[in-house]
Amino acid sequence: MRSRRHRQPEDPYTCMSDQPRTETHAPIVWANVLMFALTFAAAAILVPWYGLTHGFSVADWGVFAFLLVANGMAITAGYHRLWAHRTYEAHWTLRLVYLVFGTMALQNSVFAWCSGHRTHHLYVDDEERDPYSARRGFWFSHIGWMLRKYPSGREDFRNIPDLKKDPMLVFQHRHYVPLAVAWCGATTSPFSSTRSPTCGAADPTPRKIPRVTIRCWR
Ligand SMILES: [Zn+2]
Repeated sequence: MRSRRHRQPEDPYTCMSDQPRTETHAPIVWANVLMFALTFAAAAILVPWYGLTHGFSVADWGVFAFLLVANGMAITAGYHRLWAHRTYEAHWTLRLVYLVFGTMALQNSVFAWCSGHRTHHLYVDDEERDPYSARRGFWFSHIGWMLRKYPSGREDFRNIPDLKKDPMLVFQHRHYVPLAVAWCGATTSPFSSTRSPTCGAADPTPRKIPRVTIRCWR
């Protein structure tokens, strides 16, 4: 048992274990491997195939553009700036919007994301403690760190005592998988019935597919 004199301070950015997280032959996290493999296959094969054989409607492009922006903003403005760094405060309605679209971005719960990100900043590029250290290569820092149960990626929620007080975040963490499945399905499935049944490659007079321009700004 840990003695009193070894207790960690309450600052969420410093209350982490000092024990080195030396790498071993980490076991594969099959749920993550399957999730990345299947979503990549769907994006690289199923989506182009569907576009060529059925075409995409205006509603499809609209949903694509909306979710691209909404999910991205939920992660960068919500998960990252609001919850991980506490850069600003937000009304519960905005936090709920961030929570819904952040869940749909499939980047795990706010607890898991923010705890890992605070550890990342605390030990940035320390190969033994940074969960996604850039020093371990492009593949590891972007994808590889999620595919194996590395000691450096061990969850330690002692650095998010502030987030544990928010009941919405507690609820999202406890029910993350069913919420992600339900919200992703509920948002995308109604729009699949909005396209014209005659629009597509098999149509002798295919409709011109409108172009959607997405602007990015800083
Ligand atoms: Zn950051």
